[in-house]
Amino acid sequence: MAEKIRVTVWNEFRHEKTKENVKALYPNGLHAVVGEFLSATGDMEVTLAALDDEAQGLPDEVLENTDVLVWWGHMAHKEVSDELVAKIQKRVYLGKMGFVGLHSAHHSKPFRAIVGTNGNLQWGRNQREVVWNLMPSHPIAAGIPDHFIIEEEEMYSEPFYIPQPDALVFGSWFEDGNILRSGCCFIRGAGKVFWFQPGHETCKSFFNPYVRRIITNAVYWAVPSVDGQSVTDKCPHITEPIIGEFNK
Ligand code: ZN
Repeated sequence: MAEKIRVTVWNEFRHEKTKENVKALYPNGLHAVVGEFLSATGDMEVTLAALDDEAQGLPDEVLENTDVLVWWGHMAHKEVSDELVAKIQKRVYLGKMGFVGLHSAHHSKPFRAIVGTNGNLQWGRNQREVVWNLMPSHPIAAGIPDHFIIEEEEMYSEPFYIPQPDALVFGSWFEDGNILRSGCCFIRGAGKVFWFQPGHETCKSFFNPYVRRIITNAVYWAVPSVDGQSVTDKCPHITEPIIGEFNK
């Protein structure tokens, strides 16, 4: 790869400062762990960003130099400024940036704004999860077996109020019997979006090799692919028939 993929891993980074058990697992924040395994590919230039950083971690110069934005938020969704959310949404719609939402990002402002629903679901106690590979041919499923088990993860359950995914790559079954569409792709405008369920702050899912592979695959997949195309924020009126070119 000629140029590295510019990935920004954004984390609200609050639980790690306030809860001892989370701090013990992710002393530098869970974004540091995610950033580390993405960097290890050698193909990605990773920037870490947090809610309490300047400009909520995403000043224009960072956002405008991000090819894929990875997002983890939970307790502070409401603090994310609407102005920033609008900038993120626009950048995704224009195909300038992919978006990978992790775990409780299903309820984050950017995810909801980009996909267009409230992202509500049901949730419950931490338990065993079986992640099923529903689309082995999809690039995000590369290297992932038929299924794998996460010994402890927060239960998320249908009904999950998202639009029908453009590709449903993973589905999960939980010990209590609940099921979830747990790995979902959406095409929004000219941009690509993936949401993946594992990643509760008291669980070790971000250390699971398959979870790491899926998030890594998702970043590669979400890289913008509309370079050189005329994607704009406008809706222009065409006055000259395209076919005219052939009639000259
Ligand atoms: Zn959680």
